[in-house]
This record gives sequence, C-alpha cells and structure tokens, in this order.
Amino acid sequence: MPIHGFQTLTLLDYPGYTAATVFLGGCNFRCPFCQNAGLVLHPEKEPVIAEEDVLAFLKKRRRVLDGVCITGGEPTLAPKLPSLIRSIKELGYLVKLDTNGTHPAVVRRLAEEKLIDYVAMDIKSSREHYDRLAGSSSEKLLSAVEETAAFLMNGSLDYEFRTTVVRELHEEEDFEKIRDWLAGCKRYYLQAYKDSEHILKPDSYSSYSREELEHFAGILRKKIPLVEIRGID
Ligand code: SF4
Repeated sequence: MPIHGFQTLTLLDYPGYTAATVFLGGCNFRCPFCQNAGLVLHPEKEPVIAEEDVLAFLKKRRRVLDGVCITGGEPTLAPKLPSLIRSIKELGYLVKLDTNGTHPAVVRRLAEEKLIDYVAMDIKSSREHYDRLAGSSSEKLLSAVEETAAFLMNGSLDYEFRTTVVRELHEEEDFEKIRDWLAGCKRYYLQAYKDSEHILKPDSYSSYSREELEHFAGILRKKIPLVEIRGID
C-alpha cells in the first residue's frame, strides 16, 4: 500500500505518547483550508515510502516509541489499511487513527478487531455548514460523519473530536450547534488554523485569536466537559 510520508517522531500527535506518523494519500473531502493539498489532490505525484521500510524502522524503535499515528489524506479510504495496521500492531504498538469520519464501517471494523486504540475524528463544523468546510455537499457523507461520531460516543474506544477553526469559515453559532450535536462527548479540541505553503486554497484564511478561541471553547464547555485549545500561544 502506498505510504506517502513517514514522520519518525512526534510528541504532539498522539496525546500522552511518543509516536511515529504514517501518511496515506487521497481524500473524499476537499476542505479548502486543508494543509496537505498534495496528498489530497495528487497522491500519485507524492513520493512513496516502502511499507517494509516503515515496518523495519518501527521494529527497531519498539523500545523508544509507544505508538503510531495513521493519518492522511483520509486513511479509511485505503483498502489495505487493516493489513497495514495489523502489521504495526504485531510489533506491539498502540495505533491512533485520524479520520474525517466518512467511513463508519471501517472504523467499526478496526475497533472490533482491536486494531486501533485511539481515534481523532475531525468535526469540520456544525452540520448546517459542513459543506462549506468539507468542500462537499454530499448528504450521504454528512450522515456517515454523524454515524461515526455516534459510534465513538456510544462505544468504549478512546477518542477525541477536533475542529480546525478558521476565521473566514466558522462563526459563533457553529459552536453552539456543535455543542448541542455532540453534547456529552469525551474530549474536544479546537485547533487554531495555521497558514502554510501546502494549503488547498492558499492566501485565503486566517486564525481567530487565543481569546476568541477561548470564547468558542466556553460555548462548547456548557455541554462538553473537556474542551482544550491547540496550536496557538
Ligand atoms: S483536511 Fe482532512 S478531510 Fe479535509 S481535505 Fe484535508 S485530508 Fe481531507
């Protein structure tokens, strides 16, 4: 299976653990603020790292690293995702899956087979404005997102929901609606938008200030006990 990127150490991506990160290509959303435009739009043009090289590295680092994050793109699109994760689990690693939530059956299967230990699921915006943030107006994808969110909230797998907050695309009302939609969820992170050269729609977006993000966090905290802010001083 094509692996398009491999970060050998991250202290940030897997909360509480040292980890490596595997990047897979392709995505069924087109979030205009996406930071991995190349991986999403033209994965075939991205460099490929041999799976056996990644596994060989992980085998050597078993005593140093706790976990492996699988990210993208959207990893649940990859048909061979379960077999890749199985190989990683056989080395004794914890596995964190990043997902946009559009493939609930894949997440459920991975959970049932105990192939994943933690899921970080994107919540792009309120359901009313999902199309604006996801670059897709598919109701089918939105109902898939709702299904994955409900599966995580009602199950035993550890998880977080997270939203990259973009000044030009989110408004206060979105957080009121997300709070009501996901009331009682386990953990929610608001991530400040960061500009970079790999943004899908460059030169268009900016971040809210720390104070403004705290205000949105306060809205969420009325029904979600653990809400934190990431990515801004
Ligand atoms: S932000 Fe995530 S879900 Fe959106 S286009 Fe990029 S990889 Fe896909």
